Amino acid sequence: MKLSFSLIARFLKDYFITHYYPEKPVAPLLLAYFVTFRCNLQCAYCIREENLDAASYPEVNTEQAVRILKLVQKGAPSIAFSGGEPLLRDDIVELLRIARSSGFKPISLFTNALLLPQKEEVLKFVDFLQISLDTLDEAKQDKIFGLNKSGLAKEIKTIIEFYAGQQIKKDFRINLNAVITPQTIDDIPPLYEYARDIGVRLTVCPQLKAGHPIPALIDNRKYRSLVNRMLTWKQNDPTLMDTVQFLNHIKTFEPFNCYPYLTPRIYPNGELIAPCPSIQKVRLNLLNFNSWDEAFQQAIKNEGTVFHCAASCFLPCYLETSTLLNNLPQTFREFTRLSLGNSNVKIRQHA
Ligand code: SF4
Ligand code: SF4
Repeated sequence: MKLSFSLIARFLKDYFITHYYPEKPVAPLLLAYFVTFRCNLQCAYCIREENLDAASYPEVNTEQAVRILKLVQKGAPSIAFSGGEPLLRDDIVELLRIARSSGFKPISLFTNALLLPQKEEVLKFVDFLQISLDTLDEAKQDKIFGLNKSGLAKEIKTIIEFYAGQQIKKDFRINLNAVITPQTIDDIPPLYEYARDIGVRLTVCPQLKAGHPIPALIDNRKYRSLVNRMLTWKQNDPTLMDTVQFLNHIKTFEPFNCYPYLTPRIYPNGELIAPCPSIQKVRLNLLNFNSWDEAFQQAIKNEGTVFHCAASCFLPCYLETSTLLNNLPQTFREFTRLSLGNSNVKIRQHA
């Protein structure tokens, strides 16, 4: 079971609050901990292009990162380690081990996978490994990686295929993350077939700039018809992981009710960003606090209990979690699929 009962219980509480007591604050479901903004790639669409660079956000050391993890364990039932490339941190195994012993479930790790063979021990402590891959066209993918180097996409695919075969044995699940750009629209269906064939799952995100879809995707008929096609995939098998609600919103880019406090973000220097990265009204360094409640209350103080967003960006971790609160039966169908991991997807076994 990849979802915890405490996560489901908290989701139900949030559903109740948002539908019956909308002026009360929601409780966070997922902490997004960006442990570094360093990366060994330079993808064209990367958020680090938007001033989230390693120099502006120096990393806390191991002892401080452990303090942060222990402080935030009361904040949310689940955690995602992100970056930059988290595997570049020498202490990433230790941080994941602390997260596991602190009771976070599920634990996700976002990575480009290049360092996975050297840091394989991380697999002991993760439930979901989110690996970036946008296209099976290796030349095109190498170009997206931005290093002017060939062979990287091939190397990453080999790593993905090897670890796809380790999922049952090591009890974790792989999700491929694809950014849909105007140039990769035609590449998503083959990527979906590939994911299905090797027994991993796929999530997608339209290319964004400062949280908003790039103009070339808005009113793009080819893009819309791709999203319509993805909605039909949802009826066939569990390979595509994004929710129906999420897909409907990224098809038309209709505004949605956002609850940014469902997914608080922590940056490499220990800052809690509130309410979200698009509207950074509050930046609080968690190392200056003795408890999560103290920090969180301080973060939401200036906004009152509910944050009303006028910006309506489409950052996936806010859109996906917020829209989960719209339709309870549909959300439980998605939870069931997630809890089952890939057990109903054919998983190729490696020795
Ligand atoms: S792998 Fe991720 S963090 Fe690294 S450059 Fe690409 S998008 Fe940015
Ligand atoms: S829609 Fe975007 S800008 Fe508005 S609160 Fe949510 S994450 Fe922030």
